[in-house]
Amino acid sequence: MKTSIAIIGPGIAGITLARALVSSADVTIFEKSRGLGGRMANRRRAGFTFDHGAQYFTARSEVFRSVVERAVEAGNAGIWPNAVHTLTADGLVTDSRPPEPRYIGLPGMSGLANGLAEGLQIRKEATVAALKRAENGWSLTDGEGQDLGRFDLVISTAPAPQTIRLMPEAFSGREALASVRISGCFTLMIGLDAPPDLGFQAARINDEILSWIAVEASKPSHADKAALTIHSRNDWAEANLERDRDEVKAEMLASLKRLLGRDFSNAAWLDLHRWRYANVDKPAGHPFLFDEAFGLGACGDWCLGNRVEAAVESATALSKMLTIRLQGA
Ligand SMILES: Cc1cc2nc3c(=O)[nH]c(=O)nc-3n(C[C@H](O)[C@H](O)[C@H](O)COP(=O)(O)OP(=O)(O)OC[C@H]3O[C@@H](n4cnc5c(N)ncnc54)[C@H](O)[C@@H]3O)c2cc1C
Repeated sequence: MKTSIAIIGPGIAGITLARALVSSADVTIFEKSRGLGGRMANRRRAGFTFDHGAQYFTARSEVFRSVVERAVEAGNAGIWPNAVHTLTADGLVTDSRPPEPRYIGLPGMSGLANGLAEGLQIRKEATVAALKRAENGWSLTDGEGQDLGRFDLVISTAPAPQTIRLMPEAFSGREALASVRISGCFTLMIGLDAPPDLGFQAARINDEILSWIAVEASKPSHADKAALTIHSRNDWAEANLERDRDEVKAEMLASLKRLLGRDFSNAAWLDLHRWRYANVDKPAGHPFLFDEAFGLGACGDWCLGNRVEAAVESATALSKMLTIRLQGA
């Protein structure tokens, strides 16, 4: 009988891991929400489309590049933006770094995960709330104590502060998990009646509150309605995480007005998303964590860095180790 493996989270790390293991193990992925992709997220509201998590990703390793190129051919990814500007109080500065393809998922950011997940066994709206020792493995339960099944091995790809809550006290990777620092972020989503014509597709922002602005209509397949996605700075989000959402929205809109000279407070659509865990400030510094005695492991961006590619690299490293282990099983 094949080894059964539960993977917590179908973000890019969980999906990369599942794809690598699916031919040699019986793999089930659990996702607490209704969608795939984790922080590679998109949202459709009132006819507007927002990529409200990761903005774009690079594919520098040969393996990931070939995965992304296939996704581009299949229509699940595309290249965007043509340039990243810098927006300051004094005006726009064009990005001067050497050109390198930057990719997005299509039709929204989660399109990459959705395409790569084809054929995988995924249980949506299934939050893994607890792991209990079961005969030669682990029994998973959800928040209501409902049984989610028994598995030989369990791998968590949830952000480190969430993974540590699931792992037993004696898990060998506990110290590494506790050392990870991940900051929050607020995302302001603005839907407009007419294209804003800002003169750029995307810009980093030098500001005390805001860090990024994307013109959604400049993306392939988002051109239906004009929309803007704006990220706060991580340090500002951390200092304001528990604040009233309307106050956060108002401060972000006021900053945007100072920078662009436009008031979007009466826009056709306004929405705010709070990311409790958005960007990794301090990674674990290990490609992955795995406790052989427990049969428990973890991987994700927070192992190695702060980006989509770090998540892919971490999951790939763990999949190589597990593949060798499964061949010997
Ligand atoms: C606002 C923002 C902007 C960003 N910008 C960029 C960027 O421009 N470029 C870039 O490369 N990266 C960016 N990132 C980072 C990038 O999104 C991440 O590095 C990457 O998506 C992490 O993938 P992952 O699979 O490791 O984790 P995640 O995507 O977080 O996946 C974890 C999954 O686990 C699920 N989960 C968690 N706990 C449970 C549970 N108990 N039970 C079931 N499921 C669970 C979650 O719902 C999620 O689907 C950004 C992130 C944010 C939030």
